[in-house]
Order: sequence, then C-alpha cells, then structure tokens
Amino acid sequence: MHVLITGGAGFIGSHLVDLHLGRGDKVHVVDNLSTGSRDNLASHLDRADFHFTEADIVTWPSLDEAVGWADRIYHLAAVVGVFRVLERPIDVMATNIAGSERLLRAVDHCGWRPQVLLASSSEVYGPRVDGCLREDMDLIVQADAPPRWNYAISKLADEAFALSYARTKAIPVTVVRLFNTVGPRQRGRYGMVVPRFVSQAVAGDPLTVFGDGTQSRSFTDVRDTVQMLDQLAGCATTDGLIVNVGGNHEISINELAERAIERAGSSSPVEHLPYEVAYGQEYVDIPHRCPDLTRLHGLIEYRPQWTLDATLDDLIARVRHREGAS
Ligand code: UDP
Repeated sequence: MHVLITGGAGFIGSHLVDLHLGRGDKVHVVDNLSTGSRDNLASHLDRADFHFTEADIVTWPSLDEAVGWADRIYHLAAVVGVFRVLERPIDVMATNIAGSERLLRAVDHCGWRPQVLLASSSEVYGPRVDGCLREDMDLIVQADAPPRWNYAISKLADEAFALSYARTKAIPVTVVRLFNTVGPRQRGRYGMVVPRFVSQAVAGDPLTVFGDGTQSRSFTDVRDTVQMLDQLAGCATTDGLIVNVGGNHEISINELAERAIERAGSSSPVEHLPYEVAYGQEYVDIPHRCPDLTRLHGLIEYRPQWTLDATLDDLIARVRHREGAS
C-alpha cells in the first residue's frame, strides 16, 4: 500500500510511519518541520520505501502528484500545541483550514479515491462539563472567543469541509477526534503535560500544575492510537463519519503529577501556577475531558494495550537513557 502522511514528522505522524513501514508499505511524509522533527524519522531517512519532503501543505507544489500516488492519506499537518496556538492564533486558522481544504480538493481532482483519515481534536467539544463526549453532541463555541479557541474552530472548519467532500464528492474520508495522546517523541515545549511532568520528575524539579489541578483528562498511548487509526482507515463503514479516538480512564492533573513522581521515584515537589502565569494570558481551561467510545468500539476490534503507568515508566526510562547518553 502507498501511504501519504501529512505532518508525518510530528509526534503521532512519525508513529504511523513506523507502523506502515514495519508492515511493508511505502510511505511518503510531507512536513514543514514547524513542530515536527527530522529526528523523529531518523531511522527511516535512507530507506528506499520511504520518502520525506520538507514543505508546507498550503504551498507544496507536488501535493497533487503525491495524492494521486496514495492509496491511503493521513492528514495530520496542522499548527498544534496550546502554547503555539496562543502565540500564533492567525496561523492556526489560516494553515489548518487552508491545508485541509487544499488536500481534500486535491483528492477530488486526482482521478480516483484514496482513503483519507483527517485528524480533528477533542478540543472541538469546547468547555463542556457534562459526562463523556459523544460525536453527535451539539458543540459549544464560546461567545467573545479569545484566540484560545482558534484551534477548535479551525478543526471544526476542517470537519465541515471533510464531511461536505464526503457527501457531495464521494470522497472516502473519516474524521477522527483525537483525545489526549501521549508517548515517546511528544515534546513538552508546546505545553503538553505528560512530557513536562516526566522531565520535571526525573530532574527533581517542581512539577508545574496549572490552575488548581482538579481538571482531568484521559490519556492514550500513541502506540495504541496509531493501531486504532490504521484499523479505522481500513474499515469500510467509516466514510463520512466522525469518530472519537482515545481512552476513557480519566485522571486529574494533580493525580497525574503524583503518579509521575511516584513512578520516577522522585522527590520533586508539586507547584500550582495560576493560568495567567502559566500561559502568559487569560486562559479558559477545560475542566474534564473523557470520550464516549461507543462508536469507536462498534467499528474496530482493537483495544488499548498500554496503561498510563506503563507509558510513564517507558517515558521515564527514555529520559534517563537520553540523559545518561548526553
Ligand atoms: N498542564 C499542567 N502543567 C503543565 C502543562 C499542562 O498542569 O506543565 C495542564 C493544562 O493546563 C491542562 C492539562 O494539563 O489542564 C492538559 O494539558 P495539555 O496541554 O497536555 O492538553 P490539553 O489542555 O489540550 O488537554
């Protein structure tokens, strides 16, 4: 199979590359390396069955050709990460929406119908607090929205484009709403909590909990996420569907901090920082986030193999190994 992965040098994309090359597929990655990195692909760069292009999805001249080559496309290229979204609210809207529309248009014009999996986000559920989040729920967009919600709005626009192309142009596209995904190669630089806590715990530094720490998330290991994405993309009945992808074991950020300290055998303290200090501006956090997985489990057999503790142990070992080597 020929697989095109936009944003394939990033955290989730690079794990998709591993999965498909491991299976004997040919893979082409396009990534502008804004948050992705060549290091994430280092072990594949010399392979004949792998091709990497450094380019922006919005302007890449060879997009049509790459789309025409592909049997399957994972569209992950986007401006991501809370810190980056707050810093670059215009880029988030412009790149995320234009990139998705350009890709879908290229698929429509390429003369045949590769399977497309378009990455959306649990952010589209906004600041809801009522139970597990279902794909068919009405969504709340905060009035007077500060740029904090631009990412969610850009992903909603992507979803609307994808479903419109599915309905009016018969493009086989599945929209996945990814919940908090964690694992190797995720960086803390753009805000993600798990790599930050792991590095802090290993270094013996204070774990910086933003707000009062009662907010909760459910985390999924990226190695499970990519298995689920692959099964969804290979599933005949997902065209034009939105599907939550994640796990549903919720944990508060305070508990997560304690867990990281415990697994690392660290004596780091926990420090609570007000949101204004953490994000450098007013910030509306999402108090709880947990997916309803009924639709996902009705479509695919795969169930996550990684527990949060196993992921934390693995990440802690990797940080220690890196530090030992440097
Ligand atoms: N968070 C935290 N300390 C950090 C980074 C993040 O307490 O060093 C909090 C953040 O405010 C949020 C949660 O952890 O409540 C998850 O943050 P992340 O950016 O990983 O994901 P998202 O907010 O998109 O769910």
